[in-house]
Amino acid sequence: MRERTQVLIAGGGPAGATAATLLAQQGIDVVLLERERFPRYHIGESLLPSLLPVLDIIGAREVVEHHGFVRKTGAFYGWGGQEWALRFDDPGRPATHSFQVVRSQFDHLLLQHARHQGADVREESQVRHIALPEGRATTAWWRTREGRDAEIDFTHLIDATGRAGMLGARQLRTRRVHDVFRNVAAWGYWRGAAALPEAPEGAIGVFSLPDHGWLWAIPLHDGTLSVGLVTDKRSFHQAKDEQGSIDAVYHDALARCPLLTGMLQGAQQASALKVESDYSYTSDAFCGPGYYLAGDAACFLDPLLSTGVHLAMYSGLLSAAAIAAVLRGEVDEADARRFYQTTYQNAYARLLVLVSAFYRIHDGRDAYFRQAQALTRRDQQGLRLHEAFLNIITGEEDLHDAQQDPLTPLSPLDSLYEKLRTPLTGHRAQGLGGHGTSQMLSLPTTPDQAAAGLYLSLNPYPTLRPIP
Ligand SMILES: Cc1cc2nc3c(=O)[nH]c(=O)nc-3n(C[C@H](O)[C@H](O)[C@H](O)COP(=O)(O)OP(=O)(O)OC[C@H]3O[C@@H](n4cnc5c(N)ncnc54)[C@H](O)[C@@H]3O)c2cc1C
Repeated sequence: MRERTQVLIAGGGPAGATAATLLAQQGIDVVLLERERFPRYHIGESLLPSLLPVLDIIGAREVVEHHGFVRKTGAFYGWGGQEWALRFDDPGRPATHSFQVVRSQFDHLLLQHARHQGADVREESQVRHIALPEGRATTAWWRTREGRDAEIDFTHLIDATGRAGMLGARQLRTRRVHDVFRNVAAWGYWRGAAALPEAPEGAIGVFSLPDHGWLWAIPLHDGTLSVGLVTDKRSFHQAKDEQGSIDAVYHDALARCPLLTGMLQGAQQASALKVESDYSYTSDAFCGPGYYLAGDAACFLDPLLSTGVHLAMYSGLLSAAAIAAVLRGEVDEADARRFYQTTYQNAYARLLVLVSAFYRIHDGRDAYFRQAQALTRRDQQGLRLHEAFLNIITGEEDLHDAQQDPLTPLSPLDSLYEKLRTPLTGHRAQGLGGHGTSQMLSLPTTPDQAAAGLYLSLNPYPTLRPIP
């Protein structure tokens, strides 16, 4: 069986579903092949307010708002000996909330939405190999639900297969795991937990541990509290050897955090622990002839600032806009790819620097805010320190960037990682200093460095347009 489509999307998580929806809404033929049957379990439950504008753009806001997820109005940090809350509903902010989601349900809603918008969504359908004759992706071999082998030709492919990284990691082998943030996460779900008294409604709690590692606490609408430990690989394995089991390491970490112990008083652990290595990685290139890597298939960042779904949906939006503009003959394909690479890489790089600042645990809140201010591209006059921080961690800075011109790369990722190679936890941590940051932003802005002279336009539909 051999078919043809304009766009093939591999993977139906937030990246794939966002891109499929936008392409289908523009009347473009799109087939999405998803390996699992939804709803399927996924980690990544705390979402940023940048979700709301993207949900508006894809037309899924209402269905998500009405599902009953916990409304997240901020974040509470017990970090480096300081306690502070961030509120998304500060006066004048565009998006006042986000959601804490049960991912199986959230992802299912988005995938169903893509289907209702006209995407040909096929579950239990695994993409197995991509043919790239003369370097251009043209054909996918895939396994149907009934277990038959099939082929499909396409003009453009979006690899949105998440950490599995079907094309970039497995086939092209362009994924590189970086030395910084070689972390391990262990998490479980608790019933009967109390809310943090000082935290904004529905907030995520993020707590650093005295020596190394940190904990998350995310309230979910099924009545459970998701509680996770993230720590560097070496400390994790050493603790496991000393304490005998992952459960022991996890419970010991919880016991060392008074804020969390308070929340869990009288609560019961309601699930076995899950464990994942959440190493950070990037692909050498986020796109190539005939293909785009979106979401975790392209890059992954430590979950400290809950940025994964934001980056996934943002890159789903950017890749769909790039492909739509090329298919309509409005922009050159190589330019569209350069736009995608630069915009997505900038979003990733900015968050990477901010996460690294956070791992300099003892710098304190004002240092994180100052770092954020140095990373924002907007006119900083009158921008209060915590606003710059909020703009970045709520994803608003990225949406602002994609609609501006011209864009220059903030910094090659390689050199960023080089700077971040020093261990990042505890007093020994150094990471990027202010000097590194200002260098990133002082790159000369000249036409030949612009992102192919293109910017993202959202009206009447997401596409790329040349700078007038
Ligand atoms: C410990 C931890 C905590 C996290 N916490 C957060 C958080 O609080 N907030 C947040 O925003 N992010 C968080 N993340 C990150 C978040 O989980 C991801 O960034 C996000 O799910 C990426 O979305 P995606 O669409 O790129 O990939 P995914 O959501 O992983 O979707 C990929 C899909 O592709 C399918 N697939 C795979 N291979 C194939 C194939 N060959 N053919 C067809 N289909 C295929 C899979 O079945 C899957 O459904 C966390 C991650 C970790 C590890």
